[in-house]
Amino acid sequence: MVRPEGLLAIIGCNNCGKCALVCSHGALQHHNGRVTIDYDLCILCMDCAEVCPIKAIVYIE
Ligand code: SF4
Ligand code: SF4
Repeated sequence: MVRPEGLLAIIGCNNCGKCALVCSHGALQHHNGRVTIDYDLCILCMDCAEVCPIKAIVYIE
């Protein structure tokens, strides 16, 4: 799969961890109460953005 252009940004996150549970590519990790993203693994499918209760995950071109 060709990775689309762009970047995922997480803004105003409350570290609930819901996004990390749905990322099937291992790009989101929830450790020690904080969510981190591995940009090399993210394919920009935006599944995480759909489950974020406060819409903290945005796609930036
Ligand atoms: S956009 Fe997709 S691959 Fe990237 S962190 Fe979110 S769920 Fe994972
Ligand atoms: S689902 Fe949203 S608020 Fe929760 S950890 Fe992920 S980005 Fe942060």
